[in-house]
Amino acid sequence: MQEEKAAVGKPILWIVIPCYNEEAVLPVTAPLFRKELAELMNTGRVSGKSRILFVNDGSRDRTWEIIRDLAAGDEHFIGISQSRNRGHQNAVLAGLMEAREKTDITISIDCDGQDDITAMGEMVDAYLEGAEVVYGVRSKRDTDSFFKRFTAEGFYRLMNRMGAELVFNHADYRLISSRVLDSFADFHEVNIFLRGLIPLVGYPSAQVSYERAERMAGKSHYPLGKMVALAFDGVTSLSVRPIAVITGFGFAVSVVGFIGILWALIMTMASRAVAGWASTVCIICFLGGIQLLSLGVIGQYVGKIYMETKQRPRYIISERTWEPSKRHYKG
Ligand code: UDP
Ligand code: MG
Repeated sequence: MQEEKAAVGKPILWIVIPCYNEEAVLPVTAPLFRKELAELMNTGRVSGKSRILFVNDGSRDRTWEIIRDLAAGDEHFIGISQSRNRGHQNAVLAGLMEAREKTDITISIDCDGQDDITAMGEMVDAYLEGAEVVYGVRSKRDTDSFFKRFTAEGFYRLMNRMGAELVFNHADYRLISSRVLDSFADFHEVNIFLRGLIPLVGYPSAQVSYERAERMAGKSHYPLGKMVALAFDGVTSLSVRPIAVITGFGFAVSVVGFIGILWALIMTMASRAVAGWASTVCIICFLGGIQLLSLGVIGQYVGKIYMETKQRPRYIISERTWEPSKRHYKG
């Protein structure tokens, strides 16, 4: 009876951690997550039923074995495995949706120890004070290279200009209550960009700032190419402003073109037509370039609509550490 009372009084927390080829860093950071969870449980802020959920995102190294070993050695560690690599956002989504019905709060965090694990205490406190979403926000980026800092800050600016509401310097370190998750489950889109979508769900929110450190081991999975792709995905999944920009630009180019035609006509009528092919070539190239670029952007939207209409599953969980192996024979 007493235990039941305690369970009613304290929120169950699941820490959701996506892992892709992280055999180098998991053995280092897993004990740190465990320590923080112990601290949260010992100070009575979260229930003893709280768990650390690793989401294996189709790793090709020993990551899943490490997760299984952790789960076998300590009931507070659990894990799910995706059937293949689907990318960071889908891995986090899989973990959150897995946690939705079994928890009161979730905290998503990368597994490389870059985000200050000890900020979780403050996040839970903010939740206990009434916030349903708590964003982890980086206070400074000293440890990132100049290039990463420059591109990352440019990214937030571009995103906000393009009409996505992002919390500045917030990545995917955040606390979400299961109430918010229930509402978020109604967002069925296949193109997911969590940091843009969660603010759209609403509910009272708070921010906790922390310092971002360097990766504890292993290397980043976000080289420039992937970052640009993420930025593009973010913009196109949240806003149609690029299409509006293209339309405006097309209008401006048309006006200039119209003036050009008038000018050409007047010149011809005044019999002073110039025989310069350079100007013609320049105009053709310029317009050709703009048209292809614009078509490309519109094509991206069409492609997204195509993917959305298929309604393919956003993640496929192939294994869970708390379930027996799926492979059993009928005979
Ligand atoms: N990750 C993932 N699937 C992927 C790529 C990355 O689950 O396809 C995870 C990765 O294991 C890490 C987090 O996403 O926990 C962030 O990745 P990373 O640290 O490489 O990115 P960075 O911090 O350099 O932006
Ligand atoms: Mg990282």
